[in-house]
Amino acid sequence: MAVDSAFSSPLGPPACEKDAKALRFIEEMTRNADPVQERVLSDILTQNSQTEYLRRFKLNGATDRDSFKSKLPVITYEDLQPEIQRIANGDRSAILSAHPISEFLTSSGTSAGERKLMPTIKEELDRRQLLYSLLMPVMNLYVPGLDKGKGLYFLFVKSETRTPGGLLARPVLTSYYKSEHFKTRPYDPYNVYTSPNEAILCPDSFQSMYTQMLCGLQDRHQVLRVGAVFASGLLRAIRFLQLNWRQLSQDIETGTLNQKVTDPSLRECMGKILKPDPELARFVRHECSKENWEGIITRIWPNTKYLDVIVTGAMAQYIPTLDYYSGGLPKACTMYASSECYFGLNLNPMCKPSEVSYTIMPNMAYFEFLPHDPNSAGFTRDSPPKLVDLVDVEIGKEYELVITTYAGLCRYRVGDILRVTGFHNSAPQFHFVRRKNVLLSIDSDKTDEAELQKAVENASRLLREFNTSVVEYTSYADTKTIPGHYVIYWELLVKDAANSPTDDVLKQCCLAMEESMNSVYRQGRVADNSIGPLEIRVVKNGTFEELMDYAISRGASINQYKVPRCVNFTPIMELLDSRVVSTHFSPALPHWTPERRR
Ligand code: AMP
Repeated sequence: MAVDSAFSSPLGPPACEKDAKALRFIEEMTRNADPVQERVLSDILTQNSQTEYLRRFKLNGATDRDSFKSKLPVITYEDLQPEIQRIANGDRSAILSAHPISEFLTSSGTSAGERKLMPTIKEELDRRQLLYSLLMPVMNLYVPGLDKGKGLYFLFVKSETRTPGGLLARPVLTSYYKSEHFKTRPYDPYNVYTSPNEAILCPDSFQSMYTQMLCGLQDRHQVLRVGAVFASGLLRAIRFLQLNWRQLSQDIETGTLNQKVTDPSLRECMGKILKPDPELARFVRHECSKENWEGIITRIWPNTKYLDVIVTGAMAQYIPTLDYYSGGLPKACTMYASSECYFGLNLNPMCKPSEVSYTIMPNMAYFEFLPHDPNSAGFTRDSPPKLVDLVDVEIGKEYELVITTYAGLCRYRVGDILRVTGFHNSAPQFHFVRRKNVLLSIDSDKTDEAELQKAVENASRLLREFNTSVVEYTSYADTKTIPGHYVIYWELLVKDAANSPTDDVLKQCCLAMEESMNSVYRQGRVADNSIGPLEIRVVKNGTFEELMDYAISRGASINQYKVPRCVNFTPIMELLDSRVVSTHFSPALPHWTPERRR
C-alpha cells in the first residue's frame, strides 16, 4: 500500500515512509549532481591534502576541479603498484589516504596473475551501505507486496588472507557480509532473507550452499524473489539442487541435518530452523526427479516475482538459461559496483536486460569520463586525454570510467566502458558496454588475450617431444553446462604422425593451461566450483584457413584479417565444431591457495 501523497516522489509513490526518504535522497542527489560532485571532490582533496600522493603532485591544498585536473595524472593500477605494495608491507603513513587503510579489497580484476588489491577505509562501508539502502525503495515502486514474504538469495563469503604487513585482503562482498552493517542489520519487512547469517557466513561453499538451499526449500511458499549477485551464481545453485535434492529431501522429511554440514554454529542454527515436513519432501522429490527442469524455479518457488541477479556485461550469456529455468521471469539488475567503489543503481529495475541503465550516484566518489574511441590508437604524451565530468557526458557516446575515491584512488581508470543512454535529472544513466581487455569469463574470472596466449604457449611446450606445435588457436566460453568452462580450439601441426600426442598428453596440456591462468580463474576451479575443467578441441588441419575464408566472405579485409582469439558467433562455432577431431578435458584441479604468489 503506497503512503499518502505527502511523501510522493517523482520516481513514483513510495511504499512506506522509509522508502520516501530514500527516494527523496535519490532525487536530491541526481538533481544536484554537479554541485554534489564538486563537494565530493573538495571533501576528498581536503581530507587527503597531506597525503604523500597529493603532495607529490603539488596540489598545495587546492580543492577545485581545475587544479586537480591540471596536476593529477590519470592512472591505472600498475601506476599505483609501488604505493599499494608499501601499504601491504605495513607502511602505515598517509600514503594515499589520510584515514588509515582498514583492509584491502581483492578485485576480480588481476595484475600479474593475482587479484588487484584495492585499499579501503572504514567509512567506505557506510557509503556502500547507503547505496544498498536505496535498492529496495526503488524496487518497491515496481513490485508491490515484497514485505509479505522473503528473498531467497544465495550469498557467499570467500577466503581471506593477510598481507605481509598484516592487513586483511578479501573480496568486497566478503567484507560487507562480515561487517556489523550486514550481520546486525535492523529488521526490515521488505528485506527478509530465507538464509540465516550463519549459512551466508560459513566459509565452506558446500555447507553454505546446502543450508541456504534447505532454508529456501523449507520457506518455498514465502519466497517472493530469488537471487544471487551474478547470474552464474544462481545457475550454480540450480545445479546444486540437481545434484543434491535427494539428501535435501531426506533432511526435510526427517527434520535433521546432513552430516556433511559440520560447522558447529551452522548446525546449531539449522537445528532451530529445520522441522520435519514429509509432504514438502515428497513435493521436492516429485519435482526434482522429473527429467525436464524447465521452469523449475517457479515450480518450486511459485510466488517468485522476479530474479535478482546481474545479467549485464559478461553475465548476459546466461540469460537464455535463466529464462529456461525460470519460465522467463523478469531479471532485475539492481546495482553497479566494484571493489574500488560502488557506483550506482538501476532506477528501472524491472526493465529488459538489454535496456538496463545504471544511474551513477554523485555522492559515491568523484567521477570522470574518458571518451572511448574504439578506433583510436590511444593517448600520447602530446595529446593527453580530455576527461569529461559526470554531468557533461553526452547521450550515445561511450566512455571509460575514471574515479577519485575517499580511500585515495585519484583519477583511477576502472577499465569499464559505459554508454550514456539518458539522464535522471542531471545525473547520467549508463549502459554497461563491457570491461576492457576481457576475452573469456565464466563467473567472476576475467581472462585477457595475453593470459590466454601465455597459457597456450606454456601448454604447447608439452607437445615439443612429439614434434608437434599449435599452429592456430581460438577460444570460447561454453556456458551450456553448469558450471561453464573454457574451450580452446587448437589446430596442430604434427610432424611425425607415428608419434603424435596422445589423449593423455593433450589432457596434460589442458591442465598446464589452467595452471597458467590467473588466480581468480584457479579459485573458481578449486574453491568455488564455479568453473568446470578446461577443454581442448583439436580441429582438422586447414580449419583456421576456412575460418579466414568465412570472415573474408563476410567482408573482412585479407590484409587486416587476424585470427579472433575468442569466438561466439554461431556460424563460426558451427564451422569449428564440425571440424573437431578430438576433445580433451583437464584431468585435475590446478593449484590454488588463498595466499598470493607475490
Ligand atoms: P570487482 O572489482 O571484482 O568487484 O568487479 C567489479 C567489476 O564487475 C566492475 O568494474 C564491472 O566490470 C563488473 N560489474 C559490476 N557490476 C556490474 C553490473 N551491474 N553489470 C555489469 N558488470 C558489472
